[in-house]
Amino acid sequence: RLISNLRDATTGLGVRAAQSLPGRIVLRLADDAPIAAVCERVASTFGVANYSAGVELPVDLDVIRDAVLACARAETFTTFGIRTRRTDKSFPMTSPQLSAVLGAVVVEQVGGRVDLEHPDLAINVEILPKTAYVSGGKLPGPGGLPVTISGRVTCLMSGGIDSPVAAYRMMQRGCRVDFVHFSGAPYTSRASVDKVHELVAHLTRYQLRSELWVVPFGEIQGEIVARVPRSHRVVLYRRMMLRIAEALGQGGARVLVTGESLGQVSSQTLENIQTIAAVTSTLVLRPLVGMDKLEIIRQAERIGTFATSILPDQDCCSLFTPPHPTTRATLAEVEAAERLLDVPALMAQGVAGAVRERFVFPPALARLQTGLTARG
Ligand code: ATP
Ligand code: MG
Repeated sequence: RLISNLRDATTGLGVRAAQSLPGRIVLRLADDAPIAAVCERVASTFGVANYSAGVELPVDLDVIRDAVLACARAETFTTFGIRTRRTDKSFPMTSPQLSAVLGAVVVEQVGGRVDLEHPDLAINVEILPKTAYVSGGKLPGPGGLPVTISGRVTCLMSGGIDSPVAAYRMMQRGCRVDFVHFSGAPYTSRASVDKVHELVAHLTRYQLRSELWVVPFGEIQGEIVARVPRSHRVVLYRRMMLRIAEALGQGGARVLVTGESLGQVSSQTLENIQTIAAVTSTLVLRPLVGMDKLEIIRQAERIGTFATSILPDQDCCSLFTPPHPTTRATLAEVEAAERLLDVPALMAQGVAGAVRERFVFPPALARLQTGLTARG
């Protein structure tokens, strides 16, 4: 799965082949491939623990030496370190011997000082039975598992800071995430929908294909506001959201994901989380439940969603929010309140109004997939 994800992620960037070798995957590039762009795509592919850019060579000491020299000449450095690994033990030198020989040539012909602990320039040499690799230092990948290997989940995406981070964390564990956003339409502007578009387009670079359902939720909220006690509105909104998201997830077997974090707001107390989730027998995962807001913000910054998340908007949550929402809604109270509503009709209204959009990344992959809307 990782190989096919890497192939898709690098579409259009001159990757000629992707091959699995013991302990690694090799992407062979065309001579004019934009290496920085390829690295950037690899760096956002889950399942990659680390990566490096290098050259593939025959197992020939002269050729390896020239490649090491070319690598050193291309960089500015004071200290350098050469690390050799041999999986082919028939090579006539040990790894430390080869490192020492190559290091001496670099000192003599390019300059610099050897520092194996913290070199400015790290050069890795690997000797396999039929091939050798000379590469720059290993860079960290995003880790995790290749997307789609763990299955599909549906994330309730608000446009705030938390839910994009929740989606990212599920992708990192190998899930393909579909998104559902509840907008305040027809009572609010498009701002929240535009933000969610931007967020989903951005997150699609980590999973390559996304689906987003946008559900106009303003009228459903209007019904809740008109009929149930003020203090319980938010819990009822959330229960309606879960019902509709589950219905959109086709067949109801899909796992739901939210950005809830314990105690962060009134709807996220233990009592309310339980009362909200009791509406569905579908598993609801909350990857941020034990995270502190500052940790979530830091991760949002790293992922690149924070700036969009804090843009001002008016989503359905800002509509009809009571001044004193309850922090302890019991199931009995909430079910009594819901008897004042035509829940099946409201659900049907939400599902019927939902509009689906598809996102594909990278653009070159989108172009290959006719009939899909390309974004991001
Ligand atoms: P976020 O930063 O994700 O908006 P939040 O701190 O604002 O979260 P709440 O508003 O209580 O918290 O929402 C809790 C969770 O409910 C969100 O993380 C999201 O998964 C879901 N949710 C809330 N509002 C919406 C919405 N308008 N559309 C879809 N999901 C929503
Ligand atoms: Mg929110």
